[in-house]
Amino acid sequence: MSQKNDGSGLYIYVPMILTAAFLLGCLAISLVEVREGAIELSSHAAVSQSELSPKDLRKKSAVKENGGLKYRMVSRSDADSVQTAAEVTQSVQETANDVSSEPEQTVSSEDTVDSVAESVSTTVETAAPVTEPVSSTEDTKPVLKLPNEHYINFTPPKEGYVAYLTFDDGPSSNTEEILDILDYYNVKATFFVIYHKDMADKYKAIADRGHTIALHTYTHDYSKVYRSEDAFFNEINRIGNYVYSVTGVRSRIIRFPGGSSNTVSNHYCRDIMQTLKVSVPKKGYVYHDWNVDTGDAAANNLATEKILENVKKSLTKYRKPDILMHDSGATKGTTVEALPELIEYIYSQGYKMERLELDSYAVHHDW
Ligand code: ZN
Repeated sequence: MSQKNDGSGLYIYVPMILTAAFLLGCLAISLVEVREGAIELSSHAAVSQSELSPKDLRKKSAVKENGGLKYRMVSRSDADSVQTAAEVTQSVQETANDVSSEPEQTVSSEDTVDSVAESVSTTVETAAPVTEPVSSTEDTKPVLKLPNEHYINFTPPKEGYVAYLTFDDGPSSNTEEILDILDYYNVKATFFVIYHKDMADKYKAIADRGHTIALHTYTHDYSKVYRSEDAFFNEINRIGNYVYSVTGVRSRIIRFPGGSSNTVSNHYCRDIMQTLKVSVPKKGYVYHDWNVDTGDAAANNLATEKILENVKKSLTKYRKPDILMHDSGATKGTTVEALPELIEYIYSQGYKMERLELDSYAVHHDW
């Protein structure tokens, strides 16, 4: 049976169409409102980012957004007249130029390795921290301005006071985060690496982002590393060649597993450390121990407070502290957590932080 079309459908369809049009209009208006709300929300987010606490600095998004922008030193009274990013970038470049024209820092003769002509990590430019003059008055303290309106206490580096942050045993799942934190603070560090499978990009990132990549043997296995003098140099050659193959950097800087004063090696070859301490420099390498121990090797995820306490109790005993840390993934997560505060403490104590170079001062345990 066919339905009869008598035109009465109009009475039904016309109101329906009008109602639908009205509803669509309402929907469009509410969508605009939602969008505006989102914009406002994101601007709120921007404001709250500027109030980041030091612990928030570990958030990668905040760090990465500001990866290229470093810091400048201002007095608190200048803090409100902060420059634009472009101005800061220009001042970074100007200061870098000034620094590059200055004579190199002299080191005492016993710390200089004359026999080694090859330099380490030459592909990387040294980005000097920006320490613009402080327009200080009696009641202003110097501060460093970091991205996101983050100010930290700062003591202008005293002549000859240099701290070296060193990370052993990496790379690891922590490497990227460590690099982000170092970038944020405009700090260059040193990574004593061993071989890890499927991490070529991390070795490369360490070198590409301006840090020193140094050698800590291939296996880190004492029974192999310290079996004989030849075995040791075989380990060093293997990791050295691997690092070169993935980074293009030929490193001549070494840290012995366990340090030069370790006694465990005697189990595998009696007095081998005495032999190696002589043969390492003869073969054109320099080795570095440490004089400040974060203690992060003593336990898995040592409390951040303890790590900081360990540094604070010994850092200022030295003009050139070499600070031992570990880049070892999940078991050393607290090392990464402590790093921002640790760096801020070092800045507050009048040290600059540099990566190790071939002619850097070398801490040796047998002083
Ligand atoms: Zn180690």
